[in-house]
Amino acid sequence: MGNILIGSFFQETNDFHPNPTVYEDFTVKRGDEVLDGRHRRTRGDGDGPPRDSIAGAVRVLRSRPELELVGTYGAWMGAGGTITQECFERICSEFVAAMADAKEGVTGIYLDLHGAMAAEEEKDPEGALLEGLRDVFGPELPIVASFDMHGTITRRMLTHLDGATILHTYPHIDWEDTGARAAGVLLRILDGARPVIGTAYTPTMVRGDELKTATGVHGTFIRHCVRLEERDDVLAAGIMLGHPPTDCPEQGSRIIIVTDGNPDLASSEALELASDFWAMRKRMQCALYSVEEGIALAERADGPIVFADAADATSSGAPGTSNAILAGLMKSSYRGKVLLPLRDAPAIDAAREAGVGATITVPLGGTHDDRFTPIEVTATVELLGKRGDVPIAVLRADNITIFLASEGPILCDRWMYDDFGQNPKGFDIIVQKLPHTPYEHYDEWAAKTITIDVPGAASPNIPSLGHRHVTRPIYPLDPDMTFAPQAELY
Ligand SMILES: [Zn+2]
Repeated sequence: MGNILIGSFFQETNDFHPNPTVYEDFTVKRGDEVLDGRHRRTRGDGDGPPRDSIAGAVRVLRSRPELELVGTYGAWMGAGGTITQECFERICSEFVAAMADAKEGVTGIYLDLHGAMAAEEEKDPEGALLEGLRDVFGPELPIVASFDMHGTITRRMLTHLDGATILHTYPHIDWEDTGARAAGVLLRILDGARPVIGTAYTPTMVRGDELKTATGVHGTFIRHCVRLEERDDVLAAGIMLGHPPTDCPEQGSRIIIVTDGNPDLASSEALELASDFWAMRKRMQCALYSVEEGIALAERADGPIVFADAADATSSGAPGTSNAILAGLMKSSYRGKVLLPLRDAPAIDAAREAGVGATITVPLGGTHDDRFTPIEVTATVELLGKRGDVPIAVLRADNITIFLASEGPILCDRWMYDDFGQNPKGFDIIVQKLPHTPYEHYDEWAAKTITIDVPGAASPNIPSLGHRHVTRPIYPLDPDMTFAPQAELY
């Protein structure tokens, strides 16, 4: 018997994004609307139900008819710049107040968190939220959260959490399962399990192909966690990788093992995994190519080459307005067919004014990021349209097809290219503003995907970002450092 309160505070902060995140950037929901989740469907999802963590948690919790699910408060956005202090304080206080209003009859709390938030002054927003909830609900009420794997679970968060589940896949496809696992942990605790969290931290910022679950070394660690979760006395096991674009003091990677009353197992497994993780730190860095090296590769490849502009990945909180790869291609003598995405609302306005078929000369790039100087491009307007409310324009400048959207997040939508007549398979170089994509998006048919070393808020060239708040020493900013992981218990 009793009520389970459900709430969500979800954003991935990129502190190197030139624009801050304000309250209006969040979608805020209250009450039982929160139970519908935060998921925005894309074509890659297929026909099934929405697949976010809240959906998974709600499904599992509803299997217990004696429990009443109570939606309280949800504030969501994707990735963006540093959260203003004012925005963070407003959402945090609204969140805690909404939960406090529903305090009567509560037996547990499930939270849908990302784990990579940072505000201007509060560098541990999720920790502050959990502390605020503990002030209202006391130390005994079970609180369990699910997380992305790109983020920081701080010691303050661990102090206030009874359990945590972390995504097991990268690229991420197991949101729903991660919410379901968190709900399962909460149910186990309600049924009498005594959660003990064993954890070990490593001072590591990691990126690159070795993080891909299916093929990379990180996948071997994840598979060990999944095996642990099959044990009866293990409630959850996972790895919080950290998120290099979030410039916060506890930045790094962390193993989290939640057992049912088995502190020895929790700490020994956390320590062993952290030691293995630390040993692999050099391999878990991104292999980088210059634009010129990428072009040379494309010239001798026997199929399309994907250029990942991870530095300007809107999924990692960059603005999406980098023209660095475009500039490199235009400077080169490369004549192959190129498809390149860019966020540029003024250029779309100019294209709409001129109309399809017209030739225009417009400055491109840098609209939300003064790292980049706009470059003048003369191009033909091939197509004008809209994706939802977001204006789209397709320009053609000689061999380069430039796919313009007025908003950043939409550039992650692989399927928009086909919908606007630009099948990526018909190009020799496809630029994507993402670090990685699911296998079937490009890797299945492209000759190779490489990451281009250009500037940007989400650059996988980690030392180039310019951290100020991370605790030093940390790898790879301090490449020669030594470190021995230690287990901690909560
Ligand atoms: Zn992530």
